[in-house]
Amino acid sequence: MTTVAEWWRRGLCRMALAFLALCCCAPAGAQVIGLRPMLCHAVTDSRQADDTLPSLHFACAGTPRGYQHGSLWLNARLDRLPIEPRNLALMVHQSRFDRLAVAYSYADGAVRWQEVSGGRFGAHWRAGGQIVFEAPDRDAPVVAVTMRFDRLAEYDLVHARLMPQGDGARQTTALALVVGASLTLLLIGGLYTLSLAFALHRPYLAWHGAWAVCMLLWGGIWSQLDLLIFPGMAGTVSAQTCTFLSCLAVTLATVSAVTSFAPGILPRRLRTATLALGVVVTLFGIPLSFVRGPGLMELAALLGWLILADLLAVTICLALAWRRGATEARDFAGAWFVPMVTLAAIQLIDMDDGFWGAGSKLVILLAATWQTLWLTIAATRRLGRLRIERDRARAGEVLARELARRDALTGVRNRRGFVESVAPLLDRARADGLPAALLLIDIDRFKSINDEHGHDAGDVVLSRVGRRIAAWEGAMCTAGRIGGEEFALLAIGLEGVVLERFAESVRAGIAACDHRDTIGDRSVTASIGVAETRPAAEFRLLFKLADEALYAAKRDGRNRIRRIAPEATDRSYPPQRARINQ
Ligand code: GH3
Ligand code: MG
Ligand code: MG
Repeated sequence: MTTVAEWWRRGLCRMALAFLALCCCAPAGAQVIGLRPMLCHAVTDSRQADDTLPSLHFACAGTPRGYQHGSLWLNARLDRLPIEPRNLALMVHQSRFDRLAVAYSYADGAVRWQEVSGGRFGAHWRAGGQIVFEAPDRDAPVVAVTMRFDRLAEYDLVHARLMPQGDGARQTTALALVVGASLTLLLIGGLYTLSLAFALHRPYLAWHGAWAVCMLLWGGIWSQLDLLIFPGMAGTVSAQTCTFLSCLAVTLATVSAVTSFAPGILPRRLRTATLALGVVVTLFGIPLSFVRGPGLMELAALLGWLILADLLAVTICLALAWRRGATEARDFAGAWFVPMVTLAAIQLIDMDDGFWGAGSKLVILLAATWQTLWLTIAATRRLGRLRIERDRARAGEVLARELARRDALTGVRNRRGFVESVAPLLDRARADGLPAALLLIDIDRFKSINDEHGHDAGDVVLSRVGRRIAAWEGAMCTAGRIGGEEFALLAIGLEGVVLERFAESVRAGIAACDHRDTIGDRSVTASIGVAETRPAAEFRLLFKLADEALYAAKRDGRNRIRRIAPEATDRSYPPQRARINQ
């Protein structure tokens, strides 16, 4: 998983770099004129025909009023503008209106109209939330451009730029690339964060994933890329949806940041107040989405201040959590820094004609991409660290459990470890109809070794015998130390003469151990009690039978084997009668 986390981190870093490079390399407008300051205006009834244009009287001072339920005509004469009057493109930043008709007036008196309306932008829409009207190529130069908006919601939201068609095409291509890259990163970041949220059971990651998805929808609709699939959403419906989504995004981001801290890190009142402020932003966004008449700008400004207050509250939460040692605070501070500065800048600086006409919306989209990348990388790093810690803890736990089942002196399994290991082996052998045999091995007169050579020498002898017995361990044979100087071997699949030979080799092997360096020439032997059953019996029964056989081996003079097996005729399990073989 560490490798996957690392792969993600590197991949996302590379994508972020490519994205930045794209933003830097995109062409800037060479001969672009923002029309706002040059526009003259006239307001008429919306039932007036387009050809009333020549008879209109345009006012070039003051602000137009009363256009929300009629038509607003905006006119710019080209003789006042420093632009070549041929091959022109008019880019209008999409806004809330029912219909927009654009007239190019030529020097020979001809007028050419083009129009879009809600749900029908045709081939005029471009990525980056703009609509383009290219002047038809004629011999005569263009002398004036007129825009006619029917039922426009707000004159202040109208942003129009005039430029050579080539520049317009380059700008919209660059915008499409930047917006596409941004949305792709948001999509990847959002899906990844949501999957992390489910894998780690972290609600704040789910909120963050929801935020990224919300920003993705907002970006897709604002930039009009959604029109590829839903052309009918063009116009006011999109603008209204965007307003609501942007408010919802602020709420989701707030909830994600505030819920990322462990309970108790933030004072309850501050936490509640910040969450409440976040929720108010969305509640405020609902009516704002529907407003089409006067007052839209005032409400939008109020929402701007509300968002700033929300950001301030989140900042206070982050600062406090940071001071109290919450590691998430650092991640969130890094992620929130750019969107916060961006949103504050948008409130203070008018940048709506900038960034190839995409204005503050593009800045917000880029800031959102930054935020989601940052948090995704931070969450991945944290996940990587958690995984490493968890793997170490698991490995430690496995080692501790294994050590608890091992005998420290001889290194073979202790009684508990032996019983736990052989139980499943016996079950499997029984299911396969295989025989099982238990060898109980008890060192002869061991007490006297202790008495004559000391306890330490006894330990050395014990550990040597233990290692010798462990040498028989294998796939079908399990060894253990089940008492002071008592060992056991469980052999699956051995019976009869083969088993007898095996037991004899164990006895001989123990007797052949060289202990001269510890106890001189004294020999160390063991008595072995062997129990065999077919099919394999339970451990408890095998042990009882082997113990009886061991007792017989001791009684008969030690350093020998006694085998106990069910009567030859009794093949049942458990055996009814047993017979000790000499
Ligand atoms: P027998 O042939 O009848 O088995 O005689 P024995 O002396 O081996 O049997 P007994 O049960 O009388 O004594 C077992 C001795 O093993 C007693 C105990 O001090 C010794 N012993 C048990 N565990 C250890 C150990 O870990 N280290 C040492 N050095 N001695 C141990
Ligand atoms: Mg004993
Ligand atoms: Mg003994």
